[in-house]
Amino acid sequence: MVFLRLQVWQKKFINMKLKKGDKIKITIGKDKGKTGVVEKVYKNSNKVLVTGMNLYKRHVKKNEKMPQGGIVEIPRAIDASKLNLVCPKCGKVTRVGFIIEKGKKLRVCKKCQSKIN
Ligand SMILES: [Zn+2]
Repeated sequence: MVFLRLQVWQKKFINMKLKKGDKIKITIGKDKGKTGVVEKVYKNSNKVLVTGMNLYKRHVKKNEKMPQGGIVEIPRAIDASKLNLVCPKCGKVTRVGFIIEKGKKLRVCKKCQSKIN
C-alpha cells in the first residue's frame, strides 16, 4: 500500500484547506446546501469568498456610479468551517486531507484519495 508510507495530516492541524477555484458546498447557514466556487481566500481569518453566496444587501446613496442610489448585494466572506469541498474527481462532498510527497504538501480527497491541486 502506497498510502501507508505517506504522512497524513490530521484535520486538527490548522490549515487552509480551500483554494481559489475550488468547488464547495455550504453546510450551514442560510445558503446551506448550495454549491459555489471559491473566489478568494483569506488565510489569516480562515474565511473564503464564494461567488454569489452569503450576499447581504446594502443601501447605497446616490453617487456618480449609481445616480439613482439603491440596493446592491455584496458577498461576504464565509468561515471555511461552514464549507465542504466538492471533489473534482469523484464529485462527492468530502473532507480534505494532506499528504507529503517528495517534500511537497498535497491535498487529497478523503473519499477517493485523489490528489487535488
Ligand atoms: Zn474524491
